[in-house]
Amino acid sequence: HILVHWVPLVEQARLAGVVAVFHDITDIRNLEKVRRDFVANVSHELRTPVAVIQGYAETLLSGALDTDPERRDRFLGIIHAHAQRLTNLIGDLLTLSELESGVIKLDLERVTVEAAVRQTFLLLEQKAEAKGIAMEYRGGKEAVLADRGRIEQVLINLLDNAVKYSREGGKVEVSTAREGEMVRILVQDTGIGIPEKELARLFERFYRVDQARSREEGGTGLGLSIVKHIIQAHGGAISVQSNPGEGSVFSFTLRTGGN
Ligand code: ADP
Repeated sequence: HILVHWVPLVEQARLAGVVAVFHDITDIRNLEKVRRDFVANVSHELRTPVAVIQGYAETLLSGALDTDPERRDRFLGIIHAHAQRLTNLIGDLLTLSELESGVIKLDLERVTVEAAVRQTFLLLEQKAEAKGIAMEYRGGKEAVLADRGRIEQVLINLLDNAVKYSREGGKVEVSTAREGEMVRILVQDTGIGIPEKELARLFERFYRVDQARSREEGGTGLGLSIVKHIIQAHGGAISVQSNPGEGSVFSFTLRTGGN
């Protein structure tokens, strides 16, 4: 989109000519669209669980299930799950807006990659075991200069995805590589993989390859954009490689914290 501005050139009170100034407003338009889409997406994502909670709560309140405790408990379970979804979504939205407004301060310290990864394994152990997925650390002893809490948030998101988008009996591995002043951390899975044409948009807010599957797994579609923001705030970069049906590798860099 080009906006054309005609500017008269006046010399000694006489019109000496006209200059056309071209402004490329494509970026501004795109930004506006991104913002509008974001608001629409948020509204949609919030409305669904609220509608479910309202519907099931009304049924319970009407007394229709007073004589059927089993169904009543099932309905309460559904209400609880959707309330949890809302909690996750609101938490992710707050994190994202904090990161985007640039107000977060990183509390940089020397973080041993192995310790941070093993800590995250503990949080996901149950979920992985339930699917028969093995998680393994095969990296080195590198340390990075990073905000420990934020980096654990990155690892939780990536490892949680690796487990979520894997089949029963899969494998998730974390490894490291030194690249000059940076350390690369690789999170590899043997999961469903991601088609090539989806890779470019993967880090966008609310972008999901398979909406239904993501929701079923309790995903918000915001995890990877949060991850990308955190890594960029640290001066690192994140990328992904994938083979559909074979698995994916998400890898990111952080400044080395010395040995
Ligand atoms: P979600 O909450 O949906 O998991 P994310 O932002 O974390 O949102 O990820 C965006 C989408 O990227 C997911 O919905 C999924 O389609 C895809 N994805 C992320 N990680 C993986 C992975 N390890 N294997 C396959 N697909 C993945």
